[in-house]
Amino acid sequence: MFETLSDRLTSVFSSLRSRGRLSEADIDATCREIRIALLEADVALPVVKAFIARVKERARGAEVSQALNPAQQVVKIVHDELIEVLGGETRRIRFAKTPPTVIMLAGLQGAGKTTLAGKLAKWLRDQGHAPLLVACDLQRPNAVQQLTVLAERAGVAIFAPEPGNGVGDPVAVARQSIDHAKRKQYDVVIVDTAGRLGIDEEMMRQAADIRDAINPDEVLFVLDAMIGQDAVNTARAFMEGVGFDGVVLTKLDGDARGGAALSVRQITGRPIMFASTGEKLEDFDVFHPDRMASRILDMGDILTLIEQAQRTFDEREAAKMADKLASGESFTLDDFLEQMMMVRRLGPIKNLLAMMPGIGQFRDQLNQIDDRDLDRIAAIIRSMTPEERRDPRIINGSRRARIARGSGVSVSAVNNLVVRFLEWQKMMKRMTQGMGFPGMPGGRK
Ligand code: GDP
Repeated sequence: MFETLSDRLTSVFSSLRSRGRLSEADIDATCREIRIALLEADVALPVVKAFIARVKERARGAEVSQALNPAQQVVKIVHDELIEVLGGETRRIRFAKTPPTVIMLAGLQGAGKTTLAGKLAKWLRDQGHAPLLVACDLQRPNAVQQLTVLAERAGVAIFAPEPGNGVGDPVAVARQSIDHAKRKQYDVVIVDTAGRLGIDEEMMRQAADIRDAINPDEVLFVLDAMIGQDAVNTARAFMEGVGFDGVVLTKLDGDARGGAALSVRQITGRPIMFASTGEKLEDFDVFHPDRMASRILDMGDILTLIEQAQRTFDEREAAKMADKLASGESFTLDDFLEQMMMVRRLGPIKNLLAMMPGIGQFRDQLNQIDDRDLDRIAAIIRSMTPEERRDPRIINGSRRARIARGSGVSVSAVNNLVVRFLEWQKMMKRMTQGMGFPGMPGGRK
């Protein structure tokens, strides 16, 4: 996501780096480059124009700063303006004073509404809420079934019409769900609605009827970031047809160029509240304009990385591992597997590394990282007996062949892993105690 835009902008800035002072012509040339980069990223023209006008005005008026050189000043101005265009402050859910808080989702079919409903429910549950998912998409075959599965995975309750009861009336289902939530004391109701492939009056009417029936505290418009320039028209149509309070951008893990994210706030006046970055329930987070701006400018997003780690890792689990290392006990393949799985739970390694500042220049290498390599290593270790995991030195030719068969890799891949692990274990022993976590030995097939 945002890769091309990010590359373009960082290269614009790197050509500025050597300049001592910025002339009027430098500012104009830089702004021209930024303009092209934004247009190529599918940012809506009026948004680009306003953006460039503000950057130009501020760059011209920029005071001579002791702390920042002229190029850094331009980067700072662009950073500030990106935050602004992305919505400024992080906008959080406004909970109703008297529960339940009612959240309604609207958007085109395929935008990721149903998936998002599950993600939002899990996220709320993790924060101590008792959410109720409501299936009002009675149009798309399987939508109810899909939401039921998601609810189960997220560990939350669902309110859905009985299967086989004809098409059903989504407005009635929505209305009944609120009574149900009150009776059963669910404090947040998330209503999934039907979308169509394109903008469609009937769909808008139905969404508006549901809205009128349940009077939601938040209507969230779910927008597929991959649809490029169509995003703006779709957002406008939903703004007119249903109205919404906030936007959820989905599929930010794909190669969306960023136009939707950078345009939707300015075009609709509504903030982006959440971002969806994958198909799994965990691939979801609050949208922070400042962090996103930093990522676009390749300044990294360490805050998100730390939060993800805190959310994912059990402190005791990490402490146990650290104790083990510090005590000088030998680190076995089981420990190694456990540690690798801990890192793996944080999400795709590529996404993790993408949050490091300055990673942009290593993008090619980054794209070669394949999580399947880690999964392959895990499969190899899992095909070993407990005894082999404790002491891989006993792995002889026939054991190697058995492990290779069990994990579906070549014998040399098994050998490679064992040799590397033993070398690394030796190195660990030689190292003094209390050095913290070791790095992981790699391993390719
Ligand atoms: P709906 O019609 O709006 O309810 O859309 P769905 O929730 O069924 O999602 C449509 C497709 O997009 C499904 O295959 C989802 O798995 C996928 N999807 C949803 N959100 C994301 C996301 O953030 N990233 C990716 N890569 N896929 C997503």
